[in-house]
Amino acid sequence: MKIKTPYYLIDENKLLRNLKIIRQVRELSGAKSVLALKCFSTWCVFDLMKQYMDGTTSSSLYEARLGAEKFGKETHAFCVGYSDDDMREILQYADKVIFNSVSQLDRYYEQAKGKKLGLRVNPGVSYSHFDLADPARQYSRLGVIDREALEKQLPRLSGFMFHYNCENDEFETFAQQLDWLGETYGDMLKKLQWISLGGGLAFTKEGYPVERFAQKLADFSAAYGVQIYLEPGESAITNSTELVTSVVDIVHNEKEIAIVDACIEGHMLDLLIYRLNAKIETGTPGEHEYMVAGRSCLAGDVFGTFSFQDKLEIGSEVRIADAAGYTMVKKNWFNGLQMPSIAVRRLDGTIELVREFDYADFLHNLS
Ligand SMILES: *Cc1c(COP(=O)(O)O)cnc(C)c1O
Repeated sequence: MKIKTPYYLIDENKLLRNLKIIRQVRELSGAKSVLALKCFSTWCVFDLMKQYMDGTTSSSLYEARLGAEKFGKETHAFCVGYSDDDMREILQYADKVIFNSVSQLDRYYEQAKGKKLGLRVNPGVSYSHFDLADPARQYSRLGVIDREALEKQLPRLSGFMFHYNCENDEFETFAQQLDWLGETYGDMLKKLQWISLGGGLAFTKEGYPVERFAQKLADFSAAYGVQIYLEPGESAITNSTELVTSVVDIVHNEKEIAIVDACIEGHMLDLLIYRLNAKIETGTPGEHEYMVAGRSCLAGDVFGTFSFQDKLEIGSEVRIADAAGYTMVKKNWFNGLQMPSIAVRRLDGTIELVREFDYADFLHNLS
């Protein structure tokens, strides 16, 4: 079947590679992994993912509901700020409720105390290449800093959540930070049942020392008597998905510029936010260089410049790699451009077109 571009193509075999590492970490260390839905909510592959992961974690009522309805298993709820309506409804879906502040815990304690409750801690240390994504940046509102305040809340809590990494692929820094967390919060952890270390750990990346990572987690868990949770987002789905596009025009302005039937702002927004180049598999780089650009009206709608083996023509397919994490969840209707469909290459190799979007979706997105 030939699917009309543009479309996101999720490859279950590529996903499986990550999922097997996640399961290996659990088997070696006892650490459970819950999928961070804010990174990836494309539920057409949850039947596969839930065989390897322990549940989901969320950033909002709707994510918590999606986790409960489409993934099942454990549903962790977190939100930087719950409203009264959120709290009323979220208790139907969540088995753990994690608060971002002591004031939110105070406000909802009586209502939520039938659940396992957690508090997010801001440990004051972090690993991130981007200030925008650094949970311990100056004036951060993410989590509780005050140790005395944390200590006072312990009787109400069963766990702490720390999320302080972003794309950390260095095991040594992770290990040092974990030692530091133990030294700093160990006394309190001994009074709790679980700790979540959040996401941002690139432990499914090629070459990551998975066994040492698992050993470190196992040692920590034994030392403080806590169940460890990891909240992988990106590392669960990394390298699993492409945005498949077609060239619709080729223009020249000092360079050859191939315009494809997708756009950065609408369909791969994080590239723009973090000013990153897209990744395009061109095989062995050839002699045909093109700037690949989107068809929105944004002047800077550029995926990057790449060397292709063959000349591009109208209709040539251009596949942009790593289009799952923080990408599909952020797609939007900027410029009213055709929204990429969603297709899945299942484990047995068959390709299934699971969702198409049309004018009615654009129309009903606003009113
Ligand atoms: C963003 C986030 C995650 C997932 O982070 P990744 O970098 O995608 O692994 C996990 N937990 C919390 C609390 C988050 O905010």
